[in-house]
Amino acid sequence: MKTLQELTRPNIWSLAPYSSARDEYSGHEAHVFLDANENPYGSPLNRYPDPLQRELKEQIALVKGIPAAYTFLGNGSDEAIDLLYRCFCEPRQDNVVAIEPTYGMYRVCADINDVEYRPVLLDEQFQIKAERLLAACDEHTKIIWICSPNNPTGNDLDRQEVLRVIEGFEGLVVVDEAYSDFSRQRPLRFELPQHPNLVVLNTMSKAWASAAIRLGMAFASPAIIAIFNKVKYPYNVNLLTQQQAMKMLKATTEIERYVQLILQQRTQMMEAFRQLPICQQVYPTDANFFLTRVTDAQAIYDYLVGRGVIVRNRTRVQLCNNCLRITIGTRSENDELLGALRQY
Ligand SMILES: *Cc1c(COP(=O)(O)O)cnc(C)c1O
Repeated sequence: MKTLQELTRPNIWSLAPYSSARDEYSGHEAHVFLDANENPYGSPLNRYPDPLQRELKEQIALVKGIPAAYTFLGNGSDEAIDLLYRCFCEPRQDNVVAIEPTYGMYRVCADINDVEYRPVLLDEQFQIKAERLLAACDEHTKIIWICSPNNPTGNDLDRQEVLRVIEGFEGLVVVDEAYSDFSRQRPLRFELPQHPNLVVLNTMSKAWASAAIRLGMAFASPAIIAIFNKVKYPYNVNLLTQQQAMKMLKATTEIERYVQLILQQRTQMMEAFRQLPICQQVYPTDANFFLTRVTDAQAIYDYLVGRGVIVRNRTRVQLCNNCLRITIGTRSENDELLGALRQY
């Protein structure tokens, strides 16, 4: 791996971050806060929240098995994705490499930050080959983006190949594990101690049933986390989000029950799809959705919209011609989709 200084944009490496009122006194016990120009009335939302979300990170450490020092929390994973560009990629000079097809935000954030984006096509089984990704890199490649289980294809990527990418690359490898709670593969976040160039993304938006609160996580070495903390907005995770996340992270039994229900429904839905005349293929999945190739994705998508049922049309995505991505819903939602398709 290159040194972190070599990988970081020079302006970010030398940045003197904003120091908030709540940062400066830390280490002392305090009970009178006249430092932040807050309103003393209207408790509890009158006060700024903890800028580093310490209590929440301790709870995440318990649930995820990753120490708080390895944790960054943001306004959705999207914040971490954007921060990775802003911290490490010099506009118009550096580039990133990514699997294709995958989650669209990696490319959108590259475009916003004026960073060259180099997609590398997966094979017909939607699998990666480490050497193909590594061959797309040059001395200006700062990040390789991997997503496993991948979106929109649904499958786990080959763990050995992903490790080969991590071990063979000089820069940062981001593995987005937004869907790992639905997979039986061992999450790559547990490999963090051995791999200082690895960044793993997690989110509360999928298995943790909290898309509305906007909480994403990046797990990485404390040195990388320190760079994120320097660049992020001081109070990037609001108090209501921190409180609700705490509550959900303590409801692990309920979450496990949701995940089991979704996995059962997934099996049934995939079986039902295989019986549909419009269905040509159901791809294997390790997530809470699956990809299916149909006779005419655009026409079926439009028909479903007319019936008030929305799925994701991926027909214009590479390797996904005539494919729809189906999220697993409740039993009655799933039945409504199947009923509509049987009448198509
Ligand atoms: C849904 C999803 C996310 C979640 O993003 P948030 O901003 O945390 O809601 C992240 N990565 C992938 C691949 C996703 O599909």
